[in-house]
Amino acid sequence: MDKNQARGESTTGISEWKQRPPYRIHEKNDDFDAKYEANCHCGKVKYQLSRREPLDSKLCHCTTCQTQHAAPFQWAAIFHKTDINFTNGHHDLEWYDPTEKSIEHKLPCKVRCSFCHSPIMDEGRNMILLFPSLIHLKTDEDRALFKPRCHMFYGQRVMDIPDGLPKWSGLSDESELIEDSPPKKVRELERKREEEREERFKKGENE
Ligand SMILES: [Zn+2]
Ligand SMILES: [Zn+2]
Repeated sequence: MDKNQARGESTTGISEWKQRPPYRIHEKNDDFDAKYEANCHCGKVKYQLSRREPLDSKLCHCTTCQTQHAAPFQWAAIFHKTDINFTNGHHDLEWYDPTEKSIEHKLPCKVRCSFCHSPIMDEGRNMILLFPSLIHLKTDEDRALFKPRCHMFYGQRVMDIPDGLPKWSGLSDESELIEDSPPKKVRELERKREEEREERFKKGENE
């Protein structure tokens, strides 16, 4: 049976959630090729990653991230749930659902170490958002792969980051590009939206 894990609790034994990614522990013969190691502040929670380049890397300025991380913004790298392998402490995780403000394991949710409370990841329905600050990036090459590619919820920011990266007012690709976003990207987006409008208009005419 699925046993939920509430704040500060540790669960021993194999609960149903521990058998599914991202919590399923890989066996020696699974040939999980560990590219990186990571750990929380106290070291109780440790994990490995098998993917070298994150699917995306973003800075989120939304007020939930500001509060949850007690920081001006959050740095998150996106991975598949199967890219992670907990080598320690998956019994020592706690969950928080920011939508319901509950500590149930309901997706999407925030996952923390139940001992030192370091944020470990945001678990979405299909993906996980990891915090690169916990990952041991040893070479400049690895650091370059994790470099943030855009800012999102920049409309809610508490400080300006004039770095020339694309800046979305809300969700990336679904809101407006604002402030010092690269002009080329802004024009591309405008063109794409104009094409979509024309497409909708044509469809409307033919109906
Ligand atoms: Zn910890
Ligand atoms: Zn956010």
